[in-house]
Amino acid sequence: MCIRDRALTPYLEITEAIMEAGGEKLKTCFQCGTCSGSCPWAPVNGFSVRALIRLSQFGLEGIENYMWECSNCRQCEVRCPQGVEIINIVKAARTVYSQGGLLPASLRNVVGSLTSKGNPWGGEQEARYDWMKDQPVPDYTPDKEMLYFTCCTYAYDPRNRQVARDTVAVLNQAGISWGSLKSGEVCCGEAVGKMGDLDLFENLKSTNQKLFEENQVKNIITGSPHCYYTFTNEYPGGYQVKHISQVLAEAIKSGALKLSKEIGKKVTYHDPCYLGRHSEIYDEPREVIQAVPGVEFIEMERNRENALCCGGGGGKIWMEVPAGERLSDFRVQEALDIGAEILVVACPYCLTNFEDSRKTLNAEDKIQIMDLVELVKNAI
Ligand code: SF4
Repeated sequence: MCIRDRALTPYLEITEAIMEAGGEKLKTCFQCGTCSGSCPWAPVNGFSVRALIRLSQFGLEGIENYMWECSNCRQCEVRCPQGVEIINIVKAARTVYSQGGLLPASLRNVVGSLTSKGNPWGGEQEARYDWMKDQPVPDYTPDKEMLYFTCCTYAYDPRNRQVARDTVAVLNQAGISWGSLKSGEVCCGEAVGKMGDLDLFENLKSTNQKLFEENQVKNIITGSPHCYYTFTNEYPGGYQVKHISQVLAEAIKSGALKLSKEIGKKVTYHDPCYLGRHSEIYDEPREVIQAVPGVEFIEMERNRENALCCGGGGGKIWMEVPAGERLSDFRVQEALDIGAEILVVACPYCLTNFEDSRKTLNAEDKIQIMDLVELVKNAI
């Protein structure tokens, strides 16, 4: 790159990092604006994916005003006619800024907690397994078929801990050969990777990977779609990964798990971005819900690959979003509008955001937010 080029592109480092991440595809963007037209943030806060891509191509000043707005929902990528890898481009831009110490303040706390405690929630490492006290959790030994990996949010957040406990009950009820390592696990690293701290992501990954190898792990069950995506696509592998919705669907189909208690309610399902658009798991959660006796299953207008994001991905679960801009409020309203009495989710971030929105909308007596596992546990 000559001096003249540097003068034309003052943010050269950004351009080079982004070009490397986005590759040839980034150059093919012809600014059609389909991404901006698809982005759920655009109508609420004016975020422009098209502008972010334009700035990425030329490394122009101002990219920092856009890159923290993205929640990695992947709606834009799914629709982009040129196949531009928009999430990788956002990640590359964030990497350059995080390396320069320019992380937003709320995310700096998250990085600090992940570095010192192995989780983003500020919980002590030794408290990671407190949720399973008094629970019949088998030890994972090499003769077991599946390891249950507890996401940090299930391990530390009080509302999500209930989902982890119900997971124990349904796995035992289905007669599945499973266990927990009960020590040593750390965050899968998904969020911090998308926030751009690649060194920390690699450290977390190598801690878990070493532990899985030492314990001869063959198959992993995850409750969080973020862990599912990361173990499947960003870890070296050597084991099969299943999301809990897949395990439950199989157990119900085979007759290993019998649901007999009637739940006479109107139920809808929210596709989490990392289970749906990122991993293309759409059918299994619906099969599980429809296997529950007495359930009247109804779809929201935006469903499957068109589902609205809850707003919690890409590190945004830790960022303050002003009232009136929270996607989870719009999503809970969509569920209320179709008369749903239960909104089922299959992701700890969605559960957290929707529980907050239920309160914001004063809808606590109108709708329940339940994880898929909780619905199943109630039907046993
Ligand atoms: Fe560019 Fe794809 Fe966005 Fe169109 S949809 S502006 S081609 S990134």
